[in-house]
Amino acid sequence: MKKHNFSAGPSILPQEVFEKASQAVLDFNGMGLSILEISHRSKEFIAVMEEARALVKKLMKLGDDYEVLFLQGGASLQFVMAPFNLMKEGGKAAYLDSGSWAAAAIKEGKKFGTVDVVGSSKEEKYSFIPKDYTVGTEYDFFHCTSNNTIYGTQMKDFPKTEVPIVCDMSSDIFSREIDFSQFGIIYAGAQKNMGPSGATLVVVKKDILGKTGRNIPSYLDYSLHISKDSMFNTPPVFAVYCSLLTLQWIENNGGISAAEARNNAKAKLLYDEIDSNPLFECFSVPEDRSTMNVSFYLTDESKKEAFDAAWKAAGISGLNGHRSLGGYRASIYNAMPIESVQVLVDVMKSL
Ligand code: PMP
Repeated sequence: MKKHNFSAGPSILPQEVFEKASQAVLDFNGMGLSILEISHRSKEFIAVMEEARALVKKLMKLGDDYEVLFLQGGASLQFVMAPFNLMKEGGKAAYLDSGSWAAAAIKEGKKFGTVDVVGSSKEEKYSFIPKDYTVGTEYDFFHCTSNNTIYGTQMKDFPKTEVPIVCDMSSDIFSREIDFSQFGIIYAGAQKNMGPSGATLVVVKKDILGKTGRNIPSYLDYSLHISKDSMFNTPPVFAVYCSLLTLQWIENNGGISAAEARNNAKAKLLYDEIDSNPLFECFSVPEDRSTMNVSFYLTDESKKEAFDAAWKAAGISGLNGHRSLGGYRASIYNAMPIESVQVLVDVMKSL
């Protein structure tokens, strides 16, 4: 039986993506070859890469001033690449400390120059998004995390600033309509809303590059990847192909706005249950709640055994909270059907 997969990542993908990807492993496009054994320089794979890059721009409504790359190294390598490409020697950057991943980005940023943490909710266990801050023109860039996967908080607004905004969208990419043209760099590991782990999406506004005077190692240089159409070295072929299938699924199901409507309905269903059921409480404040990761806990620990047994018996998987926070986390990414959320809500009601 197919489980209701609430895992935070790698996570659920649309069933049709699993089916088409399995077919491509056996025979890709009728070539008589598996997608796993073809050259990344074949015209068939170049077409995949080009379609995926173009579809990202189309879904995000971005123009030719942006470039799309599919790289490796996960979001964690972007914690390094972004400052390497944007922070001047002796420069400084502003970072928002809204969760453990934001803190991990800050740690890497500090290796390239001065980092000013303009807002932090660390002392309050990252239960909210810091809001009272400004980002002045003295910074080379501003870094933020749009969705905090562990704590279940999400930025609803981004600051108005003249410096490039670098945004880690790993856990809410393509989940809601945003004006994507307000960002200088958007990056996301594929393994939540886009595909399997192994590919990292990077969207770069070209005119912010080339200003640091740094000698950037080849693989870490966005400009080099752009000049090679994201084919500087062997890309993660299968992960890019699966990402393309997911992007096509998003487009064929009404694009990002329709995905957002589905996500809002799922999140409302679950938060309404948490708010009305005295046995459950959210870790995060209501105004910053994530529509992707719903992190919550039991108010009565004596019910833990019964709750755990009940959700497992209902075919639910991946509900345990992150090891650093405990409790539970229901990740309800784009591909999660509302029917699965209803199964969880029914279990919560039955306690
Ligand atoms: N940023 C966020 C918001 C994440 O949720 C994660 C991982 N779950 C990361 C960064 C790290 O990503 P990766 O494992 O792709 O390096």
